[in-house]
Amino acid sequence: MQSITYDYLVIGAGAAGLQLTLAMLEDTYFHHKKIAIIDKSDKDQNDKTWCYWEVGAGSYDEIIDHSWDKGLFITNEQQIDLKLCPYKYKKLSSLAFYQYAHEQIRKSDQSAG
Ligand SMILES: Cc1cc2nc3c(=O)[nH]c(=O)nc-3n(C[C@H](O)[C@H](O)[C@H](O)COP(=O)(O)OP(=O)(O)OC[C@H]3O[C@@H](n4cnc5c(N)ncnc54)[C@H](O)[C@@H]3O)c2cc1C
Repeated sequence: MQSITYDYLVIGAGAAGLQLTLAMLEDTYFHHKKIAIIDKSDKDQNDKTWCYWEVGAGSYDEIIDHSWDKGLFITNEQQIDLKLCPYKYKKLSSLAFYQYAHEQIRKSDQSAG
């Protein structure tokens, strides 16, 4: 059996592990390092939905499900227009993020999962 040596082992390919790995792939310090990622799950299900606030463009805009730049607060007496600018409220499915991250990782030659 062929053995492979890795410089870094990321345990857990969830939000933290994948974001850490993507950041490592972008950082020139890690460009010649080998990174392994392990997870007990195949991460092929949409197990979470993430919503977050952001100003302007973000790293995951191409995979977000939806974003809102205005809101409406409704009570029995009144409706208030909520102007969210400069923020946007963005909704991201975890499966879209896992697939995006797996694709970025596959394109690099630094990692194996
Ligand atoms: C329904 C839901 C909605 C949420 N909505 C939001 C939101 O809107 N905004 C927000 O900021 N946060 C939200 N959160 C919280 C956010 O999802 C978590 O904070 C985030 O996923 C934590 O990241 P993590 O990498 O620590 O954990 P996870 O994303 O859960 O990843 C942990 C990984 O470790 C793996 N693992 C566990 N044990 C082992 C083992 N022994 N060996 C190998 N692998 C293992 C798991 O399979 C998993 O893939 C939500 C959470 C849930 C459940």
